[in-house]
Amino acid sequence: MRKYEDTYRHKGLRKKLMDVLKDKGITDNNVLAAMNNIPRHFFLDSAFDEIAYEDRAFPISEGQTISQPYTVAYQTQLLQVKPFDKILEIGTGSIYQATVLAEMGAKVFTIERQKVLFEKTKNYIFKTTYPNLKFFFGDGYEGLPTFAPFDKVIITAAAPFIPPKLIEQLKAGGKMVVPLNEGEHQRMLRITKNVDGGGGTTEEAFQNFSFVPMLTGKQG
Ligand code: SAH
Repeated sequence: MRKYEDTYRHKGLRKKLMDVLKDKGITDNNVLAAMNNIPRHFFLDSAFDEIAYEDRAFPISEGQTISQPYTVAYQTQLLQVKPFDKILEIGTGSIYQATVLAEMGAKVFTIERQKVLFEKTKNYIFKTTYPNLKFFFGDGYEGLPTFAPFDKVIITAAAPFIPPKLIEQLKAGGKMVVPLNEGEHQRMLRITKNVDGGGGTTEEAFQNFSFVPMLTGKQG
């Protein structure tokens, strides 16, 4: 059985990581406070314990990655999370991003297409801490029509196009943050559904990132 310990050393490294994120331009204190509260090393294989607080992505299982802390902070900041926001996340992966959103008081619905990763969510260490975080096995392109509409949607894999069903499942005035393929990289977009109820959207483009691909269908 793995022992989960959040030592003073871990806490110190985490605080330093928050300074790094601030230096890189993250200004939302709610995002920084949430990330400072969450032991990122719990979401990685224990072999990575010592380096969990470097600002880099790491492999988890099934050829997937836990996003770089800067990327998590950046996407979360763009999402403008408020307590009780109903948020749909595509790509549960390590559950780290979903935990950050849950720590900020959002109601989080996260979908994973890989069965092995979804099964791991059953042993999620913070299950009782965050009853506001719910896990689903499915294809993110379909979203979760039963639970729609959402205030926010966050896609944490490289999208080849903006999934139309996810736009449908956004509330009027709702926001989606999505890394959209553009050659070798992805351009981070924030899409706001217009408040007039006509279903139109407004797009803002931000900097480039590099994500694992958003694939179709379920696996396993
Ligand atoms: N948010 C994650 C990032 C994981 S990487 C974290 O904090 O660790 C992206 C994840 O998206 C992978 O686990 C991958 O399996 C998943 N994914 C890719 N395409 C998907 C789809 N269509 N629906 C749901 N999940 C998908």
